[in-house]
Amino acid sequence: MEFKTLFPIMKKHLADGDDVPYFFRELMAKITTVSEADWAKGKDPSAKLSDNTIRSYVKRGLSKNLAGNIVYHLTPKILTRSISKRSPASRALFAEDLVGYEPTINADNVAEKVTEWLEQIIQESAGLIPQDELQKQQQQILASDLKKKYGDYLLAETDGCCPFPGCGRQLTISKNGKAIHTFEVSLIDKSKATTPENLMAMCPQCYATYLLDDSKKLMAELKEIKTVLSTHKQSIRLLDDLPLEKGIVGVIKRIRKLGEKELSDASFEPKEVKQKLSPSQDMVLYNAVTNYVTTYFIRIKEIMINLDKSGEIDYDEIQDQIHALYKKLKKANKPHLEIFNEIADKIHRVTLQDAIFCQIVVSYFVQSCEVFDAITE
Ligand SMILES: [Zn+2]
Repeated sequence: MEFKTLFPIMKKHLADGDDVPYFFRELMAKITTVSEADWAKGKDPSAKLSDNTIRSYVKRGLSKNLAGNIVYHLTPKILTRSISKRSPASRALFAEDLVGYEPTINADNVAEKVTEWLEQIIQESAGLIPQDELQKQQQQILASDLKKKYGDYLLAETDGCCPFPGCGRQLTISKNGKAIHTFEVSLIDKSKATTPENLMAMCPQCYATYLLDDSKKLMAELKEIKTVLSTHKQSIRLLDDLPLEKGIVGVIKRIRKLGEKELSDASFEPKEVKQKLSPSQDMVLYNAVTNYVTTYFIRIKEIMINLDKSGEIDYDEIQDQIHALYKKLKKANKPHLEIFNEIADKIHRVTLQDAIFCQIVVSYFVQSCEVFDAITE
């Protein structure tokens, strides 16, 4: 199916009297999450498409540039739903005009079929290679096989969101009180073996599009993302066996409540931070830690001591635990920023408190010497 064939038939049945550019824009808004200003980003990021450009697409087909920019951001379900909302009679008329291209088309399936065609047109216009039926079948068998073998592992690695550049869709949704996994397992480098290091869980939409995409640049990006995911997973595994007192959640709840006045009364000069983090090597981390320590150190220390006295936490124990987390990551040769993030993440997993408060707590322990050793000259 070609765009110049499909579009006029869609317009006839779905445009409700709108002109070509208006209907085209409306159709694109339904099939992609990319906004109009970004449809043809490569040429002019600020410009929306002119009516004339749109008319030329309708005559000659979509440009590779436009298709390439939207192909990983398609929302076929939204288009299907919108066509399905039309009356059965108008869908029947729509299907009648298309039956010459697909004999099985009818009022019930016209919405899905038209969406599928449009998706294929965009994929092919973007330079992706379509698969024949046999390839599709083989692919489905391989995909379900990989999902069975490695699905759980790879899903955990993604933290539940599609890691594809610019996507981030949820890979698990809850429906009627049940968690449903909506992901597929894809090869990263399609010429290499199906080992876990070369596999990634992603949403079905990104999976289907990447399957047809042979871009080396994209593959390189996915490899980088995979490295980040697996390094993070390794660190989690390193820290999983180490305990952390749940009482720390009480500390964070009290930090959250601290107001400007209480904090401004208790500013602190964090000289020690400079002995552990070098501003030239870890500038961002150094600045963040210094800032948090200056603002929060004195009040957090009070909170810790009070909670220790009332028996809600064992302060010595928490200090030892945090130090143990640090030692484990240090032994694995992790860089400072990663160590900081992983300890904050561990606190987040134990307490489910916002990441920023967990970072404030780690900064406290940098100043109080459980995290990071003094830099030796
Ligand atoms: Zn995705």
